[in-house]
Amino acid sequence: MTSSLPDTPAPVLLLVPGAAGAPSDGTAPFHLADPTAPQLKVTDLVVTRGDGIFETVGVFDGTPVNVGPHLDRLARSAFLLELPAPHRETLVAAIDAAIEAHTDVAELSVRIMYTRGLEGAGAPTCWIHARTADDWTAYRSGIRVVTLDRGLSTTVPETSPWLLPGAKTLSYAVNMAAGREAKRRGAADCLFVATDGYVLEGPTSTLLVRQGDTFTTTPVSAGVLPGTCVNTLFADLQRAGHQVREHLMTVADVAGSDGAWLLSSTRLAAPISQLDDTDLPVDLELTKRFEALLTGKA
Ligand code: PLP
Repeated sequence: MTSSLPDTPAPVLLLVPGAAGAPSDGTAPFHLADPTAPQLKVTDLVVTRGDGIFETVGVFDGTPVNVGPHLDRLARSAFLLELPAPHRETLVAAIDAAIEAHTDVAELSVRIMYTRGLEGAGAPTCWIHARTADDWTAYRSGIRVVTLDRGLSTTVPETSPWLLPGAKTLSYAVNMAAGREAKRRGAADCLFVATDGYVLEGPTSTLLVRQGDTFTTTPVSAGVLPGTCVNTLFADLQRAGHQVREHLMTVADVAGSDGAWLLSSTRLAAPISQLDDTDLPVDLELTKRFEALLTGKA
């Protein structure tokens, strides 16, 4: 029987024992490994506790976008989780090596995974996984989004920092479950709402809202992840004379806006065409501009 599987180039795996500084045994700080062979130990704290952090970098026609801001955020997550600081130069070189080792494809997704490591060892485990990105074409032309209760207030960073708001942790089971709930409700994605009524972010994306000439995102102080995409777009919008701001918004603010997007490094800018049962205007020209900026082509 012939296989009907698409001919997707093989993913690349790079193990990075020097991710927190040069390995003490003098071995290379990173090396290629077989992505089809077992590599993780069952006692790694990411396996037993979901204890680790990650980043996903989008690579477009071979060029990684926003590597610096992603590594800044990885360092921030490490700080919030009291993990050893990642060694920046090693990770920059390792990301380049992973891209270099992968077959040329239009869109690559590169994950940098950084865990608390083996129980009792006290040293992080790190690997980089580069694979052909999923096809997000349909997502980028407009999506239905449902609001879902996050069960936490926007004051969590102040009142309960141990809940790790704003850290990109490897405990994403809740985020994935929210995505499945959105699909069950006939939507492509969801927008989390805090218990005090303010909108937060998507499970894997940042919210951007347009009201006239002003573009708004949720404040990081409300417990959302500091997005790299929104920063890129804000810089360009500001250059073009628009107002940009971080400000708390309600569901009604978004539903009554002149346009809204969910932003992420691999899916880019997904315009929200419907929020719950309200239709929203979709500006495809502006979305294309955002796409060019987020793929490093503008
Ligand atoms: N918020 C969450 C919870 C995310 O997981 C992500 C990305 O994965 C984002 C926001 C968007 O971040 P970025 O723009 O850096 O891709």
